[in-house]
Amino acid sequence: MNLILMGLPGAGKGTQAERIEAAYPIAHISTGDMFRAAMAAGTELGLKAKSYMDAGALVPDEVTNGIVKDRLAEPDTDAGYMLDGFPRTIAQAEALEQITTDLNKPVDAVINIAVAPDVLVDRLSGRYICKTCGATYHKLYNPTKVEGTCDRCGGHEFFQREDDKPETVKNRLKVNIEMNTPLLDFYQQRKLLFNVNGDQDIDLVFAEIQNILATVAK
Ligand code: ADP
Ligand code: AMP
Repeated sequence: MNLILMGLPGAGKGTQAERIEAAYPIAHISTGDMFRAAMAAGTELGLKAKSYMDAGALVPDEVTNGIVKDRLAEPDTDAGYMLDGFPRTIAQAEALEQITTDLNKPVDAVINIAVAPDVLVDRLSGRYICKTCGATYHKLYNPTKVEGTCDRCGGHEFFQREDDKPETVKNRLKVNIEMNTPLLDFYQQRKLLFNVNGDQDIDLVFAEIQNILATVAK
């Protein structure tokens, strides 16, 4: 099963990806996570991405398309993949069509987690992430069950993303809102698009996604 998770920053892609990953044996590919890992490791890719990410801008398509192409060629995606945060532009969507055709791994469904932009600033400013396993939490809406301990791995260290600080959040949302509608049209035309209501309890969002996956599961 080959999926794309779409939704504005903060819509809940990472949160739902964790659940999908636990239920289906498919590889989770988050371009944002890949850029953050490259930045932390101080690689050339990380250096290229940093200035864009710090400003809440998109990393140029040729850089982003390249890392997705390489990642989708890895064998763990043969059983299926779930792209999170990619594509974000029409040029990326077109590149992805070419890449997945060449690799014979076509996209089966695009799940769009729809949330009104005014909810997202709140979500992003309260987000915190486990340093050890990357699990995502929210101060108010999705805290760890035991304060200071990750539900998934038991880790005790957490961080807030640099680009979740208020100065960057506004620009990230603006950039992504502008790109979003044409992308949804792109996948609607290909009859791959499924919309879910992301402005409800996390378990209810997941239940909607499971219903969709039951119709596309391979
Ligand atoms: P994305 O990957 O789309 O940027 P995340 O999955 O990281 O979004 O979610 C953003 C923040 O909102 C996180 O702090 C997460 O815990 C919280 N969150 C995710 N889904 C919901 C939801 N349905 N209701 C309330 N908060 C949510
Ligand atoms: P995310 O973790 O998906 O919120 O992405 C964080 C940041 O990484 C974005 O604000 C961009 O700077 C960069 N990024 C992630 N995915 C992409 C993409 N598909 N195209 C361009 N930039 C991206």
